[in-house]
Amino acid sequence: MGTHLSGTVAEGLAFMQVIDGKKADSLSGERIDVRCPSDGKVFASIPASGAADVDRAVNAARRAFDEGPWGRMPAVERGRCLTRLFQLVDKNGEELAALESRDTGKPARQGKADVVATRRYYEFYGGAGDKIHGDTIPFLDGYTTLTLREPHGVVAGIIPWNYPLQIGARVIGAALAMGNTLVVKPAEDASLTALRIAELALEAEIPEGVLNVITGYGKDAGAALSAHPLVDYVTFTGSPATGTAIQQAAAVNNRGVTMELGGKSPQIVFEDADIEAALPVLVNAIIQNGGQTCSAGSRILLHRPIYEAVAKALADRFARLVAGPHQEDRDLGAMINPKQKERVEGYVAAAREAGIPVLAEGAIDPAAPSGGYYVKPALFGSVDPDAALAREEVFGPVLSLFPFDTEQDAIRLANDTDYGLVAGVWTKDGARQHRVAKRVRAGQVFVNGYGAGGGIELPFGGFKRSGHGREKGFEALYDMSATKTIVFNHG
Ligand code: ADP
Repeated sequence: MGTHLSGTVAEGLAFMQVIDGKKADSLSGERIDVRCPSDGKVFASIPASGAADVDRAVNAARRAFDEGPWGRMPAVERGRCLTRLFQLVDKNGEELAALESRDTGKPARQGKADVVATRRYYEFYGGAGDKIHGDTIPFLDGYTTLTLREPHGVVAGIIPWNYPLQIGARVIGAALAMGNTLVVKPAEDASLTALRIAELALEAEIPEGVLNVITGYGKDAGAALSAHPLVDYVTFTGSPATGTAIQQAAAVNNRGVTMELGGKSPQIVFEDADIEAALPVLVNAIIQNGGQTCSAGSRILLHRPIYEAVAKALADRFARLVAGPHQEDRDLGAMINPKQKERVEGYVAAAREAGIPVLAEGAIDPAAPSGGYYVKPALFGSVDPDAALAREEVFGPVLSLFPFDTEQDAIRLANDTDYGLVAGVWTKDGARQHRVAKRVRAGQVFVNGYGAGGGIELPFGGFKRSGHGREKGFEALYDMSATKTIVFNHG
């Protein structure tokens, strides 16, 4: 598996952090066991870093920004570094996909799809950084005024466990393209591919200290990183509660933040929609990655005349879904950890107790290891819009159906949660497509399609509790930089 191992320890593979271009254990020597969600068994370990390790990594990023070659490197050269990283991700794609699946329990094909997206991020940002131009602004007589996009400096990227490769790539790609240096902290439950990317970045000749990856618990390493006074900007993807904690920590230093905090994304299906085309998309939008996707389509709003027929067709599909080990490539894998499994099962049990009808349940592969964190996919019908299931992000394979009567009802229901990340609209009526897309409060709206987590080129981020700032596409390059205005008085 390459040079990232320090040898084997009793539990398995001992992965190392990358700080200032060098392998580093935690200063305390403490480590975290890494379990495979498919069987619950320990197969590796990662350093359990704390504030002192974070301080080392942030100082390395600070030096690399203030004194290293990175700050003076032309944008095109930085882009070439990212392009070399794209090539290395391509070359090591199979290893990365297998590692991601083993670390997160996601089906093998999803690990491979994540590598395809990751490659594309580095390819996109490798070519994007030198395409960002400033303005000249008409001003007073005797003046010339221009703007530059400048990097923030040291960016902290705190990454969740659901798509570590992809979310890591959108942060690393955009931040480095604009000339920032980075300290990335992946989630304690899924850090392995981020550590591997840090090694590949060195191989891609990204200078030492530019991309540091540290591992550890959120309350230790994550908290210390978001509060560190030498960090200039924080970008975070994860739960709203953790987002609040990180913003509070960053506020002590008055630093800017990008927050991508999940959703309760609706898909609205009108009676004239192409139902056959919609059905597989509606199911996949909640089953992809076991529903552990911030942009999962977890609510389906169905026009009353088609409610019964679509509910039945979805139930037929749900009843055939099977959760199983990542290697078996079933419809979905295991949940990331026992806590997440309990959380999902808790929502399902509460909905049942509240009398919400279960229209169908999938199965767990009988051959799946008993220690794995599997849950059965579940489909609920006629969900009360005030129920927890209708309002809270479950982050699991649980889908809720809601009937509606009019377009106004559909829009009201779609907007009736605290979130606003993604929405889907299914109708052949062109005017309706435009009306609804404009009135739904969501950062992305798909018409006659849905892309849970898709679209490297497409700006992505939320309204309301889903957060603020935009990632992906060109837009992320603006979040990862600040405007400097220069005013020349030449008389
Ligand atoms: P979950 O609740 O499922 O663990 P989180 O949103 O809390 O998801 O975690 C996403 C990322 O945030 C992880 O990298 C985690 O370590 C980190 N994190 C958790 N708590 C904090 C915190 N208080 N400060 C900074 N980072 C944190």
